[in-house]
Amino acid sequence: MWNLLKDFWLLFGRLFPFPTKPGLRPVGNPGRSSPVLVTCNFELTVRKVVQTLTRDGIDAWLLVAPTKGINVWCAAGGGHFTTDTVVSALKTSGVENRVDHRELILPQLSATGVNVWALKKRTGWEPRFGPVDIKHLAAYLGGGESSVARAYRHVRFELPDRIVMGTNLGFSSLLFLALPLLVVSIWVRGLFWISVPLVFSLAMLNSVLVFWLPGKPGVQKGFSLGLMVSAAFVVVSQAIWGLGGWQTVGWTGWIVLVATYLGYDMPGWSPLWRADVKELALGVKRTRIAIVPQRCVGCGLCRIVCPANVFARDAETEKATVVNHDACQACGACLENCPAEAIETNFRSGHCSCPACAAIHAARSFGQPADGQKEPGTETATSSHCCDSKTCAAPDAATSTVKP
Ligand code: SF4
Ligand code: SF4
Repeated sequence: MWNLLKDFWLLFGRLFPFPTKPGLRPVGNPGRSSPVLVTCNFELTVRKVVQTLTRDGIDAWLLVAPTKGINVWCAAGGGHFTTDTVVSALKTSGVENRVDHRELILPQLSATGVNVWALKKRTGWEPRFGPVDIKHLAAYLGGGESSVARAYRHVRFELPDRIVMGTNLGFSSLLFLALPLLVVSIWVRGLFWISVPLVFSLAMLNSVLVFWLPGKPGVQKGFSLGLMVSAAFVVVSQAIWGLGGWQTVGWTGWIVLVATYLGYDMPGWSPLWRADVKELALGVKRTRIAIVPQRCVGCGLCRIVCPANVFARDAETEKATVVNHDACQACGACLENCPAEAIETNFRSGHCSCPACAAIHAARSFGQPADGQKEPGTETATSSHCCDSKTCAAPDAATSTVKP
């Protein structure tokens, strides 16, 4: 019963960290040539990775990094799953004494925080990013990058994920709204008890229908949903309950308000979108991103790390090109890992896209030159690669299309 409750909490209450012990774990019967995989120390993730590896018959060393009990995507965006985190996990685990090779497979969604070039220089290990979902690891181990279909590198946010995230969205929103709702219920009788199923239903609809609601993910989609649900409410309330005019206006307004708030919150629950708060706070209307071809060394790492399928490879030059501007949600994974500073953006760096982290980022950026002032792609390249304080590995990158 306790395990069942814990699983329920971990699945639907993932807003809160739930740490498991970091360190090196054997999965199956690993030997000296078995793969070494890195993951976060969010208990649910570790359990899912172990279950999948066991199911697929993969013997491996699992290096659980200390990410404060936070899942990979949020930890990387929030600065808890970084190059330093992996360096420290490697150095304290004793894994180098267990294997003869030095190949390390990182979760793709850690790319926002982990710079593979710096990691290689600091540890001597050969890091590379595995597929976005652990269920594709067997294919990846079998054939390397070429066996990972492009679609597997693109976060898809399929129906089961949308249901889980819809529940998380409803749960976290209720925690946030519970106290104000209880207070207002003193004057508006029944508001709290009607709002509990309302918030859950609207959260689920926002998440499940997100691809089909009009507008872009965020307040636009939430507002559209609110209008549709309140229109249905008007019809039903007149036919069944015969509500008076002011009552109808009050409840429809409440539905639109709640749906819009949930729509604002929803993008932060998927690596496909970012929360609207940055646009609202800093006036960045649209993410802009460009490749400086003179600098690009064609390593392909931007395509590997991008969860939103923004880049493609130019068949003639083998350099990266931007093919899907609007999909970029400013996670910063490509900026973190491009060895040649060949990517220009109108945002300075990545950060977690959930409303809470985006709000913190916006507050910290207040008063600084706003993101979005410089139009990418308008600068003339002055050097062929970076050589900044990060580990510049551009010369190596020119000869490698997959790993540093
Ligand atoms: S293009 Fe945008 S979404 Fe893709 S990795 Fe770069 S910052 Fe992230
Ligand atoms: S050099 Fe940068 S822009 Fe070019 S392919 Fe590599 S990561 Fe992408």
